[in-house]
Amino acid sequence: MKHPIVIAIDGTSASGKSTNAKLVAKALGFVHVDTGAMYRTLAWYCLQQYVNPEDPKAVAATCRRWKASLANVDGHVHLLVDGKDPGNELRTSEVSAATSHIAVVPKVRDWMKQKQRECIQFGSLVMEGRDIGTNVFPETDYKFYLDAHIEERTKRRAAEGVNENLAARDQRDSQRAAAPLMIALGAKVINNSTLTSAETSGLILAEVRRRLEASRNAGRDGVMR
Ligand code: C5P
Repeated sequence: MKHPIVIAIDGTSASGKSTNAKLVAKALGFVHVDTGAMYRTLAWYCLQQYVNPEDPKAVAATCRRWKASLANVDGHVHLLVDGKDPGNELRTSEVSAATSHIAVVPKVRDWMKQKQRECIQFGSLVMEGRDIGTNVFPETDYKFYLDAHIEERTKRRAAEGVNENLAARDQRDSQRAAAPLMIALGAKVINNSTLTSAETSGLILAEVRRRLEASRNAGRDGVMR
């Protein structure tokens, strides 16, 4: 494929975005970008620096100043802070809760959007998040929205050893003014409450191939400019 394409996978917390985005990226040889991890990195950094995640001015100032850079590590994009990857420290419930606070700050969202669009330098992407199809790459033809029942999602997080209030986080993500979580126009919606990840990623791959074929037949190449 000469020009890069972007597959946007948005959805609620613990709806299987990461697992499926990785499976789809692997199947197609695309680069995987977890934008939630990018927001988590800033929240983690604020906590490290004793910046209150609920103080938008302080968070925006931190985002303006921090030394963060993109790196493609074995097909997965990471956001490094001072050259370091915070790794599993991003997955605590404290960081999760802080993240949906810092994510409402418009200056933070502008910064993230710019960095996320810069990921195209790495080639074709599978990018997962909350606003990829609506805000970061609204021009892509390959949009997906994942969801599952709240009981199932809570069970999945608990199995990872994390107990958190997913409903509260979903509510904050859906009700914020800047780029809220919503279904992008033209997105294929998949409720995977009773599906395995092989089945979910299979549905995504089949739909990507169908849309690629359709845009070829329509004389468009479905690529990003
Ligand atoms: O996907 P994950 O659960 O890691 O995302 C953590 C938080 O980051 C979300 O609850 C949301 O507040 C924020 N986020 C966002 N926009 C994205 C990705 C994540 O606001 N594109």
